Amino acid sequence: MQNYVIAGGGVLVAVVVITAAWVAIARKRPRRPAGGNSKLASSLRDEQTKNSIILNSIGDGVVLIDNQGVIQLFNPGASAITGWKREEAEGLNWKSVFNFVDSRSVAIPEDRSPFARAQVGSQPVRDNSANLVTKSGNTIATSFSVSPVLNNNQLTGLVGVFRDVSEERKEETQRAEFISTASHEMRTPVAAIEGYLSLALNEKVATIDSRAKDYLEKAHTSTKHLGQLFQDLLNSAKAEDGRLTNHPEVVELGGYMEQLTSDLHFAAQKKNLALEFIIGNNEVIDATGPSPAAGEKVVRPLYYVNVDPDRLREVITNLFDNACKYTDTGKITLGLTGNDSVVQVYIRDTGHGIPTEDIPHLFQKFYRVDNSATRTIGGTGLGLFISRKIIELYQGRIWVESTIGKGSTFYINLPRLTTQQAQAKISQQTQTGGPSSDLITPDAPSTPTGAVSQDAVSAPAIPSRNSS
Ligand code: ADP
Repeated sequence: MQNYVIAGGGVLVAVVVITAAWVAIARKRPRRPAGGNSKLASSLRDEQTKNSIILNSIGDGVVLIDNQGVIQLFNPGASAITGWKREEAEGLNWKSVFNFVDSRSVAIPEDRSPFARAQVGSQPVRDNSANLVTKSGNTIATSFSVSPVLNNNQLTGLVGVFRDVSEERKEETQRAEFISTASHEMRTPVAAIEGYLSLALNEKVATIDSRAKDYLEKAHTSTKHLGQLFQDLLNSAKAEDGRLTNHPEVVELGGYMEQLTSDLHFAAQKKNLALEFIIGNNEVIDATGPSPAAGEKVVRPLYYVNVDPDRLREVITNLFDNACKYTDTGKITLGLTGNDSVVQVYIRDTGHGIPTEDIPHLFQKFYRVDNSATRTIGGTGLGLFISRKIIELYQGRIWVESTIGKGSTFYINLPRLTTQQAQAKISQQTQTGGPSSDLITPDAPSTPTGAVSQDAVSAPAIPSRNSS
């Protein structure tokens, strides 16, 4: 028997793959003449029986696909979920049986299906958001785990294990709706309390003694925090079920980032932190210093992306606020670089840093590093989760690299548009009544430097990682 290895996956996947590979091979293998090694034959028969019992009894769908993409094994669980009978599915290409759609019932391209991704990357792929179209045309919420089967490091097939998760999804939606309604309703009275506290603290409107002022200031800070928590809860519920308002348009990130940096420099100054903006590989713009002389021209590449500028501002501002919160001394650097296909924004600080073991969890909901800094510094643990959801809306990736005691750098990669693509999109948007003046260029009057247009001139090597 061949030595098959399953890349990644848990125990179930391992059992299933070994079973599946074995059954598939056993089916094709000619029967040995009776009277050979009867002990071995009977133990193999036993194994085969056990394996088919497992495959036939589990409710999860199991499918084995060969390296030509042809379905070799399709268990009863797979039939129950997809509506395809074993004898119909086996022998067909997986693309004929597994059609995926997104939450808006729009077909997901074949190359983005979990099977194609596992095949191309030779890596296990988990997909908890897939919606499968059954044989009769119904759409059901499914969760897929697809693992490549490797033989001497060569991909020989794929094993998919999948489940119907309609009930779980329904419950998740109800939970998200509850959080969304509750936080929306609670924001209104909190905003009113915050407003009245501001009035009470305003010397022109109210007279209070210093002790009362102290109490009210504390109440004001806590109310602001509560308001932020409701806002974050609302945004995270919306981000999860795809209700975040999103109006993507062509944005040139050079001018956009420069403007944003100058908007943010007060917050950095307040904490005595220097703030700089680096564009391309080396052009440093000191955001806390004076603007360049009027008329001064700077030649730089143009970094076009198709995003909602308000949503991106939320993400960068959140990363910047974190950098300020978790940095006591030193500087914050906002950076922009890119290559032919990607624009990269980074936010670097000289702060506390993040422990290595926390990094994989950082972009999960409510995750906060548990240390003395976060215990005293307020936060909801939702900012990075919302940021990831927003960046994923634009097929981007967000991740962090950090060293304890030295600081952290958060990276955002977004697909880059060439100048031609950007201009084509703008005229398309103009014709379809979309945003008409949505190209935010470095020449826009709001930018402090008078940069001149030039297409992407540099394609530097940029840090990257495989997943967010
Ligand atoms: P929070 O509201 O707690 O800041 P986030 O989701 O924005 O929530 O961040 C999650 C956690 O990640 C924070 O609680 C903090 O522990 C850690 N973190 C985020 N940014 C930084 C940073 N620049 N430096 C150190 N730790 C950070």
